[in-house]
Amino acid sequence: MSGFVFSEKPIELIEGDGAYLYDTNGREYLDMGASYACVPLGHSHDAVRSAVTDQLDRLTYVQASYPVEIRTRLYERLAAVAPGDIGKVWLCNSGTEANEAALKFARSATGNSKIVATRRGFHGRTMGSLATTWKNKYKKPYEPLMGDVEFVAYDDPDAIAAAVDEETAAVIVEPIQGEGGINPASTAFLERTREATAAAGAALVFDEVQTGMGRTGTVWACERAGVVPDMVTSAKGLGNGFPVGATLCRDWIAEEYGTHASTFSGGPVISAAAEATVSTLVEADVPGNAATVGSYLQTELATRLGESVREVRGEGLMVGVEVRRGANRVLRELAMEHGVLALPAGRTVVRLLPPLTIDHEQADEVVDALAEVLG
Ligand SMILES: *Cc1c(COP(=O)(O)O)cnc(C)c1O
Repeated sequence: MSGFVFSEKPIELIEGDGAYLYDTNGREYLDMGASYACVPLGHSHDAVRSAVTDQLDRLTYVQASYPVEIRTRLYERLAAVAPGDIGKVWLCNSGTEANEAALKFARSATGNSKIVATRRGFHGRTMGSLATTWKNKYKKPYEPLMGDVEFVAYDDPDAIAAAVDEETAAVIVEPIQGEGGINPASTAFLERTREATAAAGAALVFDEVQTGMGRTGTVWACERAGVVPDMVTSAKGLGNGFPVGATLCRDWIAEEYGTHASTFSGGPVISAAAEATVSTLVEADVPGNAATVGSYLQTELATRLGESVREVRGEGLMVGVEVRRGANRVLRELAMEHGVLALPAGRTVVRLLPPLTIDHEQADEVVDALAEVLG
């Protein structure tokens, strides 16, 4: 029997250490993708590994309706880092589930059904989250999806204000679009979205599944704009490689969330991974490193690559390099000839989402490699 969903890469990775991965031939790779932003602290991080193994030794699993100390500590950690007065936490296993929950909570808390989403947005692949995802290719084979979704242009304050009305349950938006090509939203857009949803009594959901956990230089990308939503969703970096998602909610949402539930919600081992990740992130000021090294990386990329690329954009260590040819060919050369692993975002963007612990030398390494491939 064999798996059939993903096309497999020609490298078999067997070991990880910090920002580096090693294949079966002992070859070293600089991991500038962190497997889609999933290891913000780097591979085999001590604090996460020991938290998980300790928890495995004591109690692997018990259902969410029994209180478990490690889960309670995770709730407290998340509430402490959540934007503004957001203080309630729903735990799940992935990004799409975190968004699925947010959509259900918004419908339940508002009594409305309409969801406003953005063009080129990506929110996951289960039926509800998929319905709010823009790309037709992802949706077509599975239609009909959840109805009552309206798409508006991303980063267009007037368009979002016009779409939100008394029928609206939620607006779901990424503060920086990831899959859509690393497109940052302006502060004006996020502010206007906040005003429009507040005036209509609709829930504002920031999908920070990719931007969250320090990637953009602050724990959440929305902190830069100073806009506090009603819900924030998190997943990719939350467990440093372990499958955990969270929907952080304001009280008015949590009070009317309905009957949503999931068997594996907040299992002890997964909670231990997330608790260790969040506490390390805060104590070691990992977002601060993402801000410093990220801005250095972006400046170096822009200066060194110059006219050989269309644009370098992003925030912190969420960086898109728009190239003048197919991104996949660039990625293949980076991996095979320079031992640098990165990701695509659409056809022409090379996406860098490295561990947030990389240093200036590792940033130089990827700039050198890109300069050679594109030069
Ligand atoms: C990856 C991603 C998701 C989906 O997360 P999964 O864990 O793959 O379900 C949702 N939203 C954004 C912004 C993402 O980057």
